[in-house]
Amino acid sequence: MVAKKKGEPAAGSDADLGQSFAVNLMQHLVVPTFVLDAQCNVLIWNKACERLTGVQAAEVIGTREHWRAFYEAPRPCLADLVVQGRVGEVEALYFTHGDASGPSFGVHAENWCVMPCLGSELYLAIDAGPIYDGDGNLVAVIETLRDMTDHRRAQTALEQMATRDFLTGIANRRSFDEKLVSEWKRECRDLRGMSLLMIDVDHFKRYNDTYGHQAGDRCLQQIATLLEQVVFRPGDLVARYGGEEFAVILTATDAIGAGIVANRILERVAELALPHSGSECGYVTLSIGISTSLPEPDMTQENLISLADSALYKAKHAGRNRYVSDQGAETVE
Ligand code: GH3
Ligand code: MG
Ligand code: MG
Repeated sequence: MVAKKKGEPAAGSDADLGQSFAVNLMQHLVVPTFVLDAQCNVLIWNKACERLTGVQAAEVIGTREHWRAFYEAPRPCLADLVVQGRVGEVEALYFTHGDASGPSFGVHAENWCVMPCLGSELYLAIDAGPIYDGDGNLVAVIETLRDMTDHRRAQTALEQMATRDFLTGIANRRSFDEKLVSEWKRECRDLRGMSLLMIDVDHFKRYNDTYGHQAGDRCLQQIATLLEQVVFRPGDLVARYGGEEFAVILTATDAIGAGIVANRILERVAELALPHSGSECGYVTLSIGISTSLPEPDMTQENLISLADSALYKAKHAGRNRYVSDQGAETVE
């Protein structure tokens, strides 16, 4: 459907026939498409756009209300930004964007849209391209839409699978390795000090033997949740290192700060008080090894792991349910 504009050629003229041909053509396009004039009024809203948005052409043609098809509150659509020469705002308003061809040809962006008339959110890939007259004046902007919701959800699920631990939902070993490399690079540059906690559940083999493997799985899930509650500072990372071992990266944290976090973890596990008949105190406990980076030339991220590992070993041999730091600090009993 198309809006009539002031100053348009009389019905039946060549220009009018050309325009109605263009409108008919767009109705046959399976790609959801709408067109704005140079004042951001809707000129064309094709059938595919009606199907995608649940908004009928008659509701929006000749108005500037097209945002209602996508969002709950007024905001510019991509075509509005192109009409108004506000392409610089795309970054702030869209999930991802790119203008490989340059704004004079068209702009691409992607967004989660609320779609109020449908009642279900859609992830849309959007292209908006300007149309100029023979004198180079902008006369309209055409916006085409693609529903990428399934694709986006599948992509997010794949990203989750690649970075999250299946059992506990926290970061997996791969995420840990990547984070350690990036944090170590930053540490070598900024020398702010970083700490690593290697955490191991005490007597976990006995726990499985006594309560069963499924109960063991639930125990690991509870420990993971607890660790994420205790370690909440942005930039820090809690990961499942493997089996019943967890690792925590504390950015910009010295040995004293790491000891405070380790103590808090041990206290919270004691409060959780998961029964464990095979443990010294009758409850699930953890042992923690801490290493802290030092500004020494031969210190590496691998050293950080092995120092935390040997501190963990000492904590086990000193009687478990405690932390030991490579800087000498340990749980005071
Ligand atoms: P320690 O106090 O010295 O750490 O003793 P431990 O029994 O915890 O250590 P050990 O390495 O002998 O046993 C670890 C156990 O953790 C054995 C393994 O079956 C169990 N485990 C590893 N991954 C999982 C898992 O995903 N789920 C369950 N339920 N158990 C697991
Ligand atoms: Mg272990
Ligand atoms: Mg263990």
